[in-house]
Order: sequence, then structure tokens, then C-alpha cells
Amino acid sequence: MGSRAAEQRQEARQLAARLSAEGVRNVALTWVDNAGIARVKTVPAERLAAAAERGVGMSPVFDVFTSDDAITASDHLGGPDGDLRLFPDLERVTTLAAQPGWAWAPADRYDQLGLPHPACQRQFARRMTERAAAAGLELRMGFETEWVVTRAPAGHPAATGADEPLDYPCTGPAYGMTRVVELSDYLRDVTEALSVQGIDVLQLHPEYAPGQFEVTTAPGDPVRAADDVVLVRETIRAVSVRHGLRASFAPSVVAGQVGNGCHLHLSLYRDGTSLHRTPDAQWSLAPDASAFLGGILAALPALLAIGCPSPASYLRLQPSHWAGVYQCWGVENREAALRLITGAPDDPDGGHAEVKTFDAAANPYLAVGAVLAAGLHGIESATRLPEPQTGDPGVLGVRERARRGIVRLPATLTEAADRLEKSAPLYEAMGEVLHGAVLAVRRAEEAHFAESEDDAIAAATRWRW
Ligand code: GLU
Ligand code: MG
Repeated sequence: MGSRAAEQRQEARQLAARLSAEGVRNVALTWVDNAGIARVKTVPAERLAAAAERGVGMSPVFDVFTSDDAITASDHLGGPDGDLRLFPDLERVTTLAAQPGWAWAPADRYDQLGLPHPACQRQFARRMTERAAAAGLELRMGFETEWVVTRAPAGHPAATGADEPLDYPCTGPAYGMTRVVELSDYLRDVTEALSVQGIDVLQLHPEYAPGQFEVTTAPGDPVRAADDVVLVRETIRAVSVRHGLRASFAPSVVAGQVGNGCHLHLSLYRDGTSLHRTPDAQWSLAPDASAFLGGILAALPALLAIGCPSPASYLRLQPSHWAGVYQCWGVENREAALRLITGAPDDPDGGHAEVKTFDAAANPYLAVGAVLAAGLHGIESATRLPEPQTGDPGVLGVRERARRGIVRLPATLTEAADRLEKSAPLYEAMGEVLHGAVLAVRRAEEAHFAESEDDAIAAATRWRW
């Protein structure tokens, strides 16, 4: 034990020396709160070893911060007392390409005695990954990042108001090459920064809404996927700033338009073999994969309180917007909340599934952890996938949807939070402290925006994540 600690100390010192030699002055230690905001403490590079040994102090009150920086309280958290320690994950220390002199590391939160903080979202994601491993399952996950880019307002970078038009730096049709040509330096710099930071970019393309783009990155284990999406987002933000631009990852940049999703892709493996490639099985899914996906589908109404955590999320969740607002699944169906992707038949890793409903206001650690918990519960309770749906449920009449058993997912945060409150599997997986803190934040967000018009909600949340 003592020698392991000494070894770690030695590794941390060497890492700090290497960073200093590379010109890194500061290391940003981020963790993501329950409102989905990446909060940070930074330390000088030469303090990294000390931070790795003793952690860096941060109040537990941030567990009940809302996206507008107000503070609420749960049964267990809130108020000025207490302290936690942020421990950087040294394995993930990354020199930041678009912030010269800076490095980044995701942090885990412990109490002052060195015990895991029960509301630490990153450790929740790890616990659920370990729970899957104990059942012989390995999950590979990855988030898609969608964002809208605008010109930064001259002078004071205050939030643009509800009635202030956004100044897009590119024109041209959805998915059109025009946008890539107009922003080619910017988009090249985004990909280059990601790639030198060790993020494997799969694709980048213009999306539907004005100024909207998407980047997808290679899958990894669930905690890695959550770390990656934080790094991807902050990198896009930093490159945008260097180009005089601003990136919005908000679910609804302009109310009524197509929003930004943050879809979660996942695939299941056992002993290194994909459970999406089972010969002779329906949809090529091994029984465990089918039950796991069935568990996610069944839990979706409660999962929305995790994956769509802001009142702004529900501005995005409109039928026929490719956001997946009906509780159904489909093979390659972009209007199903859960989309099964088959991939090329000769690609052993080509099969996976996509939770389309989630957005970037979600804490990605909570998202992967809660999806794992729901999927594992699906296996434990031998959940079966219903029939898949083709086409857009939004264009069907109410009767036809009812006949097919297609239910609308919660259309408000209140409804989703009610479902999370009642979800026994998610309560058990998250534990009372984390579950209670998430619910407290959701209730505070609802109350804050209860009287707001859609435009005002979009404007108030546009630059928060
Ligand atoms: N922007 C859409 C959303 O809100 C998704 C479009 C797509 O399927 O890539 O989730
Ligand atoms: Mg997309």
C-alpha cells in the first residue's frame, strides 16, 4: 500500500515535470455538476503531484447548483458546510491544443477522509461499469457532439438576448458543403486540436440548423466516453474563441428550431465479442443485448430526467425533429428514441445502438451510469424488446400510435423528474444522496423557468453548457 502510494507520487512528479517542460503552466481539473455544467479548479503544473496526493478542495454545495448558478438543497446536500477533495485522474491528463500553456484532467470527488463522495457522478459511472463487468459485460460508448457556431458579439461577450438575432459565420444549406468551405480553417483547427489531444475523430459535418455542426469520436469504455465528451466540448469552445466565434451546445439554441442533441451510442461485448453480431438471432442481438436494450427502452421516461435535464431540453424534444421523442425503438429509424444501428454485416464492431433523446445539458457521467443501470436492470428482469417501429411516429394519428403501443416520452422536465423519483432501479443504482441531489436540481430548474416563455428559456440557457 505504502509503496503503491510512493510509486503514484513518483509518477505524478514525473508527469508534472514533463508538463512543465512542455510549457504547461496550469492544469484545469474539471468535474460536471448535476445541472450538466463543467465546473473547475485549476492548479499550477508544479502543484499537480500535490493535487494528486491530497486532492484540491471544493464545496459539496456544487451538487445542488442549478444551471443559472443558483443554489438549491436536497435532504443531504446544500449549505456552506463541509469540503470535498478533487483528485485528478492522472491517466487522462491532456495538454490542451487550443489553450496554450494549459492541460486538463477530469477529477473524482472524495471526502476529506479519502472516502468516495456518494454524489460523485464520475465514480457512479465507474461503479456501473464495474457492475456490468461483474456480469461479464463490456460496454463501448461514445457521444455525438452537436453545436451551433455564431460570431462572438463585439466588445462585452454578454449573453445574446431573446430578441437579438444570432450572427452566423456561415450560410448555406443544411449538411451543405458551403458551410465547410466558409469555415474550413475553423473546422480544420477543431479536428486538429482534437486529434493532437488523442481524441480519435470519426466524422465532422454540418447539421440541419443554421450554424450547426456535429463531430463524432471513437467509442471507449463508459467513463472514457464521458471524459471525452467533456474534452471535445471544451476544445470546440476554445477553438471557437480563437476564431472570434462562439459555440452553443444548448439543447435549444433558438426555440422552435432543430436543437443540439448529444446522442449516446453504445455496444455490448462479452469476452471481446460483440453481442450485436449473433448469428441466427433476431436483429443479430444476443439475448443479453436484447434485454439490456429493452431495459433502456423501459426506463427512458425516467432516464430523460438525466439525459434531458433542463426545461430547455423539452423545447428541443419535438416530434419529427430527429430527437426521438416517442418511447419506441427501430432499426435505423431516426425518429425512434432508441435506434438500432446494424452497420456493415462484415464489420464485427459495426452493430450498436443509439439513445437519440439525450442532449448536452446532461451530465455525461450520470448519463452513461444511468443507462448502464437501466440496461443491467433489463437483463436482471429479463426484459424483452417489443416490436421495432418503422417511420415517424409523429405523423401517425393518436389511434394508430396507441394501436402500436407507442407512447410519447415526458414532454416536460416535471414529468421526467416524477418518473426518476419513482424509478426503483435508478434510485438503487445512484444511491439516495446522488438521486436526491439530481432531483433537487431538476425541481429548482423547473421552478426557475415555470413562468418563462420558450424564447426566454432558450436565450437564458444558450451559453450555459
Ligand atoms: N439535431 C438533432 C437532435 O436534436 C439530431 C440530428 C441527427 O440525427 O444527427 O438530436
Ligand atoms: Mg446529428
